[in-house]
Amino acid sequence: METKSVVLLSGGLDSAVSLAYALQESRVELCLTIDYGQRAAAREIGAAAALAAYYNLSHRVIELPFLKEITSTALVNRGKTIPARGKEALDDPEAAFESASAVWVPNRNGLFINIAACFAEALGCALVVTGFNKEEAQTFPDNSVSFVERANEALAYSTKNCVRVVSYTQRLDKVDIVRLGKRLNVPWQFIWSCYYGEEKMCRECESCRRFFRAMEAAGLTCP
Ligand SMILES: [Zn+2]
Repeated sequence: METKSVVLLSGGLDSAVSLAYALQESRVELCLTIDYGQRAAAREIGAAAALAAYYNLSHRVIELPFLKEITSTALVNRGKTIPARGKEALDDPEAAFESASAVWVPNRNGLFINIAACFAEALGCALVVTGFNKEEAQTFPDNSVSFVERANEALAYSTKNCVRVVSYTQRLDKVDIVRLGKRLNVPWQFIWSCYYGEEKMCRECESCRRFFRAMEAAGLTCP
């Protein structure tokens, strides 16, 4: 029997490449985008919807307005500045920790995985696909390999069909993820990898810097 999956799709680099990979490994039943009031929500939803349409997949947006109320993170709170980091600071652990705290959302990935697992169980899917990466796992513990392993231990108890979380990109850095995406013909024009939700990606925030640095390193120009 074919393995079925639910893909958490934010419309950014990691999740777009993960979706392309998931399509080779499984039948993707649903792409889920979470709107928790983040500044880039509209852009992310647009990017995810475009990616889902490109691959002819179902797409659903889950709204979690309470997260916006209980968090003071700069990702949500427009009164706060999202730390901009120079290229040289991207690999500095201290700067990384500082900016990670500024964009932290309480239990975000823990919650998202469990929401996706609800859909996965209901739709008879064995897999939840998330797009974690090695670079950010250094500062965000909820991107790490250990987190995925522990989440799977819990899901074996909380889902009837033992849904498992997989992240095809979690051992890769951003350049490797772009290279993988290149091999899988990911439609780069749809991706939104900026913390802000302006007309264009800002190229200044940490997320943009990591994305554009990786694109450049892989020899790709950005749309
Ligand atoms: Zn940006």
